[in-house]
Amino acid sequence: MRYVSTRGAARAAPLGFTDILLAGLADDGGLYVPLEYPRITALQLQAWARLPYADLAFEVLSRFAADLPADTLRDLCRRTYTAAVFGNGRDPARAAEIAPLRPLGVEGGAALALLELSNGPTLAFKDMAMQLLGQLFEHVLGATGAELNILGATSGDTGSAAEYAMRGRRGLRVFMLTPHGRMSPFQAAQMYSLREPNIFNLAVRGVFDDCQDIVKAVSADAAFKAGQRIGAVNSINWARVVAQVVYYFKGYFAAAPRIGDPVSFTVPSGNFGNVCAGHIARMMGLPIRALVCATNENDVLDEFFRTGVYRVRGAADTFQTSSPSMDISKASNLERFVHDVVGGDPARLAGLWRQVEHHGGFTLDDGAMAAVRERFGFRSGCSSHAHRIATIRDVDQRYGVVIDTHTADGVKVAREHLELGVPMVVLETAQPAKFTEAVEEALGRPAPRPLAFEGIERLPQHFTVIESDVEAVKRFIAAHTGIVAA
Ligand SMILES: *Cc1c(COP(=O)(O)O)cnc(C)c1O
Repeated sequence: MRYVSTRGAARAAPLGFTDILLAGLADDGGLYVPLEYPRITALQLQAWARLPYADLAFEVLSRFAADLPADTLRDLCRRTYTAAVFGNGRDPARAAEIAPLRPLGVEGGAALALLELSNGPTLAFKDMAMQLLGQLFEHVLGATGAELNILGATSGDTGSAAEYAMRGRRGLRVFMLTPHGRMSPFQAAQMYSLREPNIFNLAVRGVFDDCQDIVKAVSADAAFKAGQRIGAVNSINWARVVAQVVYYFKGYFAAAPRIGDPVSFTVPSGNFGNVCAGHIARMMGLPIRALVCATNENDVLDEFFRTGVYRVRGAADTFQTSSPSMDISKASNLERFVHDVVGGDPARLAGLWRQVEHHGGFTLDDGAMAAVRERFGFRSGCSSHAHRIATIRDVDQRYGVVIDTHTADGVKVAREHLELGVPMVVLETAQPAKFTEAVEEALGRPAPRPLAFEGIERLPQHFTVIESDVEAVKRFIAAHTGIVAA
């Protein structure tokens, strides 16, 4: 399997999986995509249905990572997807499933269920891919003796997932920028309580946008970036996307009455990474009926799927909501999907993203949007804060299950797209304990907190407060990598 940029770079000499593993954007600003999607036969699907999660992950990933030896990849998957890492105190049988299905009930003639993806170390679904990335990075760097310094900005889930995946790994350091004093006490405690010497938490005197601007400025300094071996693990990373393909297969096998029957998925979405993985699973031949993209008040994606208009928003039009991990103004991974919609035509795709740069968006015509719905199976919807609170209350009363605000967004939108006899799986993207204020508002009691996280706010915290200043951050990085500029 070889990779090219959505906008055309690398067409002459497509790259391998390990070539793009540590890369961010392609040289032309595009995203890496495979030259074609591997297709799964009905017979293979039957066989995969019986595999434990780690071996299913190996089967899926090996179709995309031909340049990694099979034994190595299988070993990395088995070391990643263990009941110890993804157990979160559940009973051993469920823990061993890694991503178990939790049936809720039958609504509108459809079996409604949650796919549990948030039992990893940081209690959000990002662990599912990031933990594998940690193993892959360490392996690839170890083979060459190279170093990688991951630089990122986070207001919550991504940063903590990255730190827990990279902690203590050889050849890796993480420099994570957070807005000083602006994360929830739980999220701050999760990140700052880490003690590994390769993890550096930088609390920036500013807001999240300042953190992100600093990361962009540092990354734009090509000499510094190359000299200090700076990399990223943001949501456009191909390996992250492809690791997420695995649980669509897992969820399908658990929800389908018979292998081959259609199943629909609803995905609480922000950067379009998670639901893009569902699209890839569908392109591989998994019998997914509908892929429902659910947003909160930041409805860039819902607007696109309803109208064909993709219109990015400015910071002033990006709302802070009770589902903060979906508060985005543009959906980076959408470019991968639109690349398929325009038939893989890099010139057309590049033209669309030039329109995004110069005019803040583009519009797809009715023909293209008919394909989006019919050929690619996409649907969408959005939720407000009141919807999410009502849904948390309803799911608790009806089924005795406490869900978080992001998952509640998914359940609300899923209910608008139920079809008779077609199971609907909602991806559970975070544990309610991470967003307990909303649970308290809905249920009048705090969210249950997993045992391992009791008292986490009282642990000693390790972070460095730093001015909102690009040069100060560069100096800090250089001082801690020990790499002297040439
Ligand atoms: C990141 C995140 C999302 C959005 O996922 P995308 O891949 O960016 O679409 C949804 N819910 C939670 C809890 C998240 O952390």
